[in-house]
Amino acid sequence: MDLQNLSFKQTRHLLLDKQITAVEIANYFLARTKEIDPKIKAFITITEKEIIDQAQRIDEKIKKGEKLGKLAGAVMAVKDIFLTKGIQTTSSSQVLNGYIPQYSSSIYQKLIDEDVMIIGKTNTDPFAFGASTENSGYFTTKNPWNIEMVPGGSSGGSAAAVAADLCHFALGTDTGGSIRQPSSLCGVSGIKTTYGRNSRYGITAMASSFDCPGVFARDVEDIALVTEITAGLDPHDATTCDIEVPKYTENLKKINIKGLKIGLPKEYFTGSIDPEVKEKVLNAAKEFEKQGAILVDISLPSTDLGIAVYYILIPSEISANMARYDGIRFGQSVDGAPDIVSYYMQTRGKYMEPEVKRRILIGTYALSSGYYDAYYTKAAKVRTLIKNEFVEAFKNVDVILAPCSPTPAWKIGAKVNDPLQMYLADVYTVCINVAGVPGLALPCGFNNQNLPIGFQLIGNFFEEEKLFSLGHQFQQFTDYHQKRPQL
Ligand code: GLN
Repeated sequence: MDLQNLSFKQTRHLLLDKQITAVEIANYFLARTKEIDPKIKAFITITEKEIIDQAQRIDEKIKKGEKLGKLAGAVMAVKDIFLTKGIQTTSSSQVLNGYIPQYSSSIYQKLIDEDVMIIGKTNTDPFAFGASTENSGYFTTKNPWNIEMVPGGSSGGSAAAVAADLCHFALGTDTGGSIRQPSSLCGVSGIKTTYGRNSRYGITAMASSFDCPGVFARDVEDIALVTEITAGLDPHDATTCDIEVPKYTENLKKINIKGLKIGLPKEYFTGSIDPEVKEKVLNAAKEFEKQGAILVDISLPSTDLGIAVYYILIPSEISANMARYDGIRFGQSVDGAPDIVSYYMQTRGKYMEPEVKRRILIGTYALSSGYYDAYYTKAAKVRTLIKNEFVEAFKNVDVILAPCSPTPAWKIGAKVNDPLQMYLADVYTVCINVAGVPGLALPCGFNNQNLPIGFQLIGNFFEEEKLFSLGHQFQQFTDYHQKRPQL
């Protein structure tokens, strides 16, 4: 049976109707991944044994008439920065080559408890530092729509795996855009949740006050279902909130588009934006207008400070978080260093990728006693300004609609030797992380070279339900999310 064009929901019906077994589903995805992945290189590890074990467990439950988890029948890929007990977790850095975690991240565990099947661990920029997967210590993932192009990043492996139908959904993290930007470049959907909505426990930390785990899928309905399971208070993560998790999947039609006010921030449609991206994103806004929404021009004046603020604050947090990879507590280490200082220097010098070193250097500099007030404190103050502008905007509009990326996917190699150009690719995503609000990326068309273009719906704090409802309805009156690359 060809499962390629089926959503998780449709696949689950087949499983429950006994038209297919979990082992057959697992074998279908394994065969497809083995055939397609060598072309796009989405995976660092394919978990053949685990997926078959899980599938057999599900079939056993069905045979015995036992209750099935909500995700029985679903195949999931996991960004390689989520700890998965007993399965290698590299964070796409040579530092963690061969590292087998002793425990699992909370979110992954919640999904396993609902009978999800894991197909493998996906490539990313090392520790999620990047926008194209080219910084990975292993290899570059290719965009399924055109294998000469980047898939975006850092969660490019997860986005590519969904775009190529190698799984039903994939886990990622978004610290400055790493779910929304690769979604946009690969033509899939993805949610960056409100900071504190999904637990960060057991995910290698990038910048702890920014990191937001989330999920990629083709259909918003699948994203809503997964988020309904992952979201909520986690005793292991003190920044998760004790705010009730709505039944997202039951409320997908809840928001009435008629009369809904959608803000279009002028700063996101000027400057370096590619004309085709601008046109397609504005067309998406017009699709909502046709359904009765009211488009409102708004301004988020500090948007142009976003990149500067982000690239001071996140390296600062990174420089602290990376201290643990010293070859003693975690990570690979060199042999034969004459003393402890040389041991650290040689170990970190040998195994850390250039972008990892760059961020540690920038962060250590920004936090050093002579510069702390000039850089870190200033950036932290502007962070509050940016956040307040979102809070103000949401007094006048229900959601904000904006592009995710100023351009479609670019050629592999085009920016990799120019870190500043790479950082500028994040211009439309970082402010949402600086503020901490949620954003849902959705595909909205293609450029003249058949490369996908996406947009994001940005909501107020903890308004994922609204975003899912609007995203789902958008996918009912458009069909961009159903388009598939030729592979
Ligand atoms: N591209 C951004 C960066 O390099 C975002 C990374 C992320 O969200 N993990 O920092």
